[in-house]
Amino acid sequence: MTRSDGDKTKAAGICDSCSELFTVWACQDGTVRPVSPHNACSCDDPSYRVVEENEVFDDEDEAAGANEEKYPDA
Ligand SMILES: [Zn+2]
Repeated sequence: MTRSDGDKTKAAGICDSCSELFTVWACQDGTVRPVSPHNACSCDDPSYRVVEENEVFDDEDEAAGANEEKYPDA
């Protein structure tokens, strides 16, 4: 869950460059930065953004659906 702390919110984040997941501060001015630089990725040009929780859950649903489609009727 997200936790508010003044003008910034702790959230799940991802680096679009390498798909590494870590916790980030999402500031109200649109800035997204890792809570701990030591836990972030080591990209030369990282692209951080907040990951919606339902976005993560959607991935799990798609994985389950993929298994069901392994043996099509056709
Ligand atoms: Zn990265």
